[in-house]
Amino acid sequence: MRQRKKTKQVKAGSLAIGGGAPVSIQSMTNIPIERVDETIAQIMQLADQGAGLVRLALRNAESAGYLKKIIPAVSIPLCADVHFDYRIAVAAIRAGASKVRINPGNIGDAVGVREVVKAARDHGVPIRIGVNSGSVDRRKFPEVTPGSLVASAMEHVRILEDNDFTDIVVSIKSSDILQTIEANKLFSDERDYPVHIGLTEAGYGVTCMVQSSVAIGHLLMLGIGDTIRVSMTGDPAEEIIVARRILESVGERRCLVRIVSCPTCGRTDPSLDILDLAQRVDQEVTARFEKILAEKNTTLQVAVMGCEVNGPGEAKEADAGLAGIRDGRLLLFAKGEKVKVVDHRDAVTALIEEIGKVVNAF
Ligand code: SF4
Repeated sequence: MRQRKKTKQVKAGSLAIGGGAPVSIQSMTNIPIERVDETIAQIMQLADQGAGLVRLALRNAESAGYLKKIIPAVSIPLCADVHFDYRIAVAAIRAGASKVRINPGNIGDAVGVREVVKAARDHGVPIRIGVNSGSVDRRKFPEVTPGSLVASAMEHVRILEDNDFTDIVVSIKSSDILQTIEANKLFSDERDYPVHIGLTEAGYGVTCMVQSSVAIGHLLMLGIGDTIRVSMTGDPAEEIIVARRILESVGERRCLVRIVSCPTCGRTDPSLDILDLAQRVDQEVTARFEKILAEKNTTLQVAVMGCEVNGPGEAKEADAGLAGIRDGRLLLFAKGEKVKVVDHRDAVTALIEEIGKVVNAF
């Protein structure tokens, strides 16, 4: 993996973005801001899952009033997403938003932009410019290409620079993976501002997960990306889980509990449900040991394998694990040694007990 590009660092409240800060995860609420209690609950859930910043759509003049109620109730920086009306952006900053997402080219006239910049400067709030394939001005750029996406972003960047404002985060997104990658590479050659990366309108479920992982993972492995969002149709909490896995996969975050499991094959005892076992092991081990592992500054690998022929051998790197045998029984092993044979109904409990011993010995 190439070394991460050293970008300028900006602060969104307590969250540092760029300049060598850990790559942060962000998401967006999908509840109208007027439903204050539900919005607060969703933000807290996203924070618990690992979000470093949450964005909210502010659609009208009243929105900043709701934002003001939400901010003191949450423990995480919030970004106000505003289009077309600079007065909403200014009100959001005054209400305590830690960051605003606008496009200076469509937020108002030069006076309006100056008002937003002044408020942002006075309150130490960075501005995120967000360009995607839908926001490219087709009169100026008839075709959406990596070049036109970057040119469009640069128009907005220059407006802020002309106002002497450089606490900028830039996102350039497309629903096309290659276009997103190329555009971010081009922008990275143009400026040193921190970048927010992701695909836009990435869809839902497995398709979204795979496409986002390819685009975000590829850019991170090129050393590009300071904060990420997986844009997924559905519950935003899912976005955070996928984002965390992407960061773990590219080595930007340590995976404290790693479950390795085989795909199963004809050798697997049909009375065993290896997927169910792996999921229960993952949940139990994460809930019980993740905090202890973080305190001990170490990681744990647990295997759940379909058979003992290749199981323990293939999973020899694991600290502990289970491998199916016959008649609903499994072999429990730890540190490459057989411990005992267990019935599938007792397997998770027995494994957790064994892992407890392994973790204590760390
Ligand atoms: S570990 Fe055993 S059951 Fe799993 S895929 Fe390999 S041979 Fe098949």
